[in-house]
Amino acid sequence: MLLMTVAGLAAAVAIGATVWIIMQPPQKQEANTKAPVQRSYAKISGFDEKRYPTPNYDRTRKNEVAGVVLHHTGELTVEESLDILTSPERKVSTHVVIDTDGTRYVMADPDVVTYHAGLSMLFGREHCNYCTIGIEFQGNTLVAPLTNEQIASAIEYLMPIIETYHIPLNHIVTHEMVRNAYRAQYPDKRCDIKVDITPHEYARFMGTLCNYLLIKDKICKPA
Ligand SMILES: [Zn+2]
Repeated sequence: MLLMTVAGLAAAVAIGATVWIIMQPPQKQEANTKAPVQRSYAKISGFDEKRYPTPNYDRTRKNEVAGVVLHHTGELTVEESLDILTSPERKVSTHVVIDTDGTRYVMADPDVVTYHAGLSMLFGREHCNYCTIGIEFQGNTLVAPLTNEQIASAIEYLMPIIETYHIPLNHIVTHEMVRNAYRAQYPDKRCDIKVDITPHEYARFMGTLCNYLLIKDKICKPA
């Protein structure tokens, strides 16, 4: 249901072989305003991608890659985020960090188990690190929205993974969602709340992804 309700947030068009995403700005439109909707355009391909390996991963098992957990890094610079996610002392990591300009820092391949979800649950299953990809968006969505470049870059990164591992869209969730599911299952366990990607920014991301997939489907399967 969520996907249907957010699908109108963005539209995508294909121009030749290049797919562009049209995104509405994150600000809410004032009621009764006659001002035209401001749109910006983010290219779906061509973002810089750099390898930035992390030593923090589970060497005892392979990732099942059944879902994706979206995070934000919080009030840190990208350099600080990269340092923390590769520090052997911190024992935290992720698969990719996406900077505000769309640059991707890839820390691990999809079949690697990284340490991003902690206490978590996805459709009744614990230990989401074993079965999900972690995406860290640089910044704090409680303070500022995701940039259009971050959303487009994440979709570019995710498309081959979604197709290779047949990940259903309802298995793309936020850290808050997997944490809340765990807390609901174990109300007596001590476990911090996470507001890690706000519901509004999650809706923007999923709406853009859904529209991109609709257009891509038309391109791949012409009538
Ligand atoms: Zn998180």
